Amino acid sequence: MIFSQNAGPEQVVFSQDNSCGLKAIIGIYSTALGPALGGTRFYPYETEQQALQDVLNLSRGMAYKNALAGLELGGGKAVIIGDPRTDKSEALLRAYGRAVASLSGRYITACDVGTYVEDMDVVAQECEWVTGRSRANGGAGDSSVLTAYGVFQGMRASAQWLWGADDLEGRHVGIAGVGKVGRHLTKHLLEAGAIVTVTDIDPAAVDRLRAAYPEVQVSRSVETLVSGPVDVYAPCALGGALTFESVDALRAQVVCGAANNQLAHPAVAELLRNRGVLYAPDYLVNAGGVIQVEDERHGFDFERAKAKVSQIFATALSVFELADEQGVSPALAADRLAEERIAGSASRHPVEAA
Ligand code: NAD
Repeated sequence: MIFSQNAGPEQVVFSQDNSCGLKAIIGIYSTALGPALGGTRFYPYETEQQALQDVLNLSRGMAYKNALAGLELGGGKAVIIGDPRTDKSEALLRAYGRAVASLSGRYITACDVGTYVEDMDVVAQECEWVTGRSRANGGAGDSSVLTAYGVFQGMRASAQWLWGADDLEGRHVGIAGVGKVGRHLTKHLLEAGAIVTVTDIDPAAVDRLRAAYPEVQVSRSVETLVSGPVDVYAPCALGGALTFESVDALRAQVVCGAANNQLAHPAVAELLRNRGVLYAPDYLVNAGGVIQVEDERHGFDFERAKAKVSQIFATALSVFELADEQGVSPALAADRLAEERIAGSASRHPVEAA
């Protein structure tokens, strides 16, 4: 069946250029709130079917993220099938730029796994519907800066909801994955007086972090971190961090991190709730990056973007309140708020402010 009963996707575009090896799929989930913005993932999918499934899931995720962040944007995503280390070329990126241009602004692209600000600069040679370009080219630059700031706001809101004060001083936070986002998050947490323990499969990432922040403690694995005495668990590596097993082992009272698609299964959200763990939905708290690149469309202003990201604090509290009122998980409450906004029925909860 090609057409589904669900709200999206509105449009799926397959684009190829055999002269440079481009094979791309652009998924536009929804343009109800504005042009569909979402990054380009460059990844060596084993099958075209896997690539299609990924772009459909990711574009839906962006529609929800952008809606809940209060942006005047729909949701979309693109995948380029190939190994970015060997298959990426200027010709391919420019051909991809022409594919994006053919949609005349219905889809706006940005960076994702396997694509970087310098790639967006090349795409922008063919197409005006690009964000996440370098600062030198008028872009917003590395989006991990405000992603981390947004996660920090989500953590403060979680502390407010659970412990009655947004203060993280003396709280113990465990961060799994100290790449771009995890590193910035560590800085915010240390400045707020939190105790930070980290883990990463790449020892060099931990060494780099400890060189800057020697007070950070190190856990030998994600499993050790999760079962250790932390108050807040921040998954900042890959998706699927929250499984039935990891949640059973979890000692933290809050989960709030940057990784996309943290719930390995939707039912894990209910398990977290039953165990009394407050889950700050991933796409709510990690929206700082898309807010940062969206601002580029208006001539990038860091302070303006940061002010918008600060609203994640209020939106998180609205989501926790709604979840409590409706007796559902915060993940489901966030989905409902996003769906309401996409459907055009303004909620009494202040998502528009976010
Ligand atoms: P990154 O690649 O810079 O860092 C990820 C870190 O996680 C790396 O240091 C890596 O070694 C580590 N890692 C990978 N697998 C691991 C594992 N199994 N256990 C422990 N550590 C592991 O990525 P990033 O930009 O910091 O993004 C982190 C997460 O946040 C990703 O899931 C990303 O999709 C999500 N996210 C990022 C942004 C952004 O603006 N960068 C925005 C929204 C969401």
